[in-house]
Amino acid sequence: SPKLDGTINDCKKNDEDDDNDLAINKAEVSLLNKLVRQSLEESRHNIEVKQRDPNSPLYSVHSFEELHLMPELLKGVYNMGFNRPSRIQETALPLMLARPFHNLIAQSQSGTGKTAAFVLAMLSRVDATQHHPQCLCLSPTFELALQTGKVIEQMSKFCPDIKLLYAIRGNRLDRGTVCTEQIVIGTPGTLLDWCTKLHIVDPRNIKVFVLDEADVMIATQGHKDQSIRIKKLLPEDCQMLFFSATFEDSVWNFAQRIVPDPNVIRLRRDEETLVNIKQYFIVCRDRNAKFQALCNIYGAITIAQVMIFCETRRMATWLVEQMSREGHQVGLLTGELTVGQRAAVIQRFKEGKEKVLITTNVCARGIDVAQVTAVINFDLPVDRSGRADSETYLHRIGRTGRFGKQGLAINMVEGEDGRRILHDIEQHFNKTIQKLDADDIDEIE
Ligand code: ADP
Repeated sequence: SPKLDGTINDCKKNDEDDDNDLAINKAEVSLLNKLVRQSLEESRHNIEVKQRDPNSPLYSVHSFEELHLMPELLKGVYNMGFNRPSRIQETALPLMLARPFHNLIAQSQSGTGKTAAFVLAMLSRVDATQHHPQCLCLSPTFELALQTGKVIEQMSKFCPDIKLLYAIRGNRLDRGTVCTEQIVIGTPGTLLDWCTKLHIVDPRNIKVFVLDEADVMIATQGHKDQSIRIKKLLPEDCQMLFFSATFEDSVWNFAQRIVPDPNVIRLRRDEETLVNIKQYFIVCRDRNAKFQALCNIYGAITIAQVMIFCETRRMATWLVEQMSREGHQVGLLTGELTVGQRAAVIQRFKEGKEKVLITTNVCARGIDVAQVTAVINFDLPVDRSGRADSETYLHRIGRTGRFGKQGLAINMVEGEDGRRILHDIEQHFNKTIQKLDADDIDEIE
């Protein structure tokens, strides 16, 4: 067994392709969300199912009992605190577990229970008396593989004969090692080497092949081809399971090369909207005036948790210094932090240790901090040419008004440029943003 303590140091020490920035970013965001997530992400959206055989009835289960799992496995599921299947699991689990076994492509946003679903599917297929690989799982990075490995270990807690091997670069095996573990999880390059050049993993008896985080996977040069080559080594009747958080054309094309004749499940992401969000602006002369305005409204807004957005890391750092000087305890999230450090900052914020989180654009993209009820744009979002960036505006403040909760957004507007940007944002969403007098905060409530 490899000596992996499961600690996350720095995602930049990536397993493969250190120079692929985009891939690292996507993988980082994905990892961050996993590290800071404590519970299932709710989704009110209906599930869309396209069945390979449209005449077969569509089952969905409302309890784990209905799946007729091995008792040890069911015990493992309950031991993780799962009471009932999540939205996507209700449909995905019966589709994956029904005989004869069918292939599946599934898409839903992160946190909706995909990992738990395919881990359960893999574990339910393992014959623990056989000592050879039976399930393969591909992950885009070492760190993400570790996260999934942890879920496998937790869920199989009461199945002591099921063993897991990590096929990742850091895990150096002796020459001539032959894998006796039933489940192998790893990154595409290493796993391909282990199957072909090193003959550590025998792909000929694999029953389940999982490709996780497909959208992150294809962002890394080479991963796609390696995955396809691995797939070609597998037996004809191997079950292929393909998961992704998003589903652009490139992901769909990739899926079709890996997964013949699939069932398809999709759970669309909740649209971010500006409904339920009260939007205000405050006119300020300069950044000192913005800071003063922030202090004036601070008491009123920190009843809830607040995210404050700055355009640059320098501005964010400056603001943290000013706030700290006033005795406020605030968190700072910037791009220079490692993934582990960022996760820790978000964790503290989620636990309420800090009520205010100051951050820059780059950092906050794609990160779910569900309970935020107020957003302050200390700087308005602009694109490279200084024009209003309405999409980013929506991403920033769209996180406040979720699930019927009332959200609050306050924009600090500086100078003529600021007014013009605000005006463009108003036009874009066809919604007026109310003026607020920083000295008279009663209006907010
Ligand atoms: P995804 O793979 O879609 O990102 P995960 O499988 O990692 O989602 O699940 C997200 C979180 O929800 C994890 O903390 C996981 O332990 C939890 N979770 C998954 N399924 C259930 C369930 N049926 N009931 C309760 N919690 C669940």
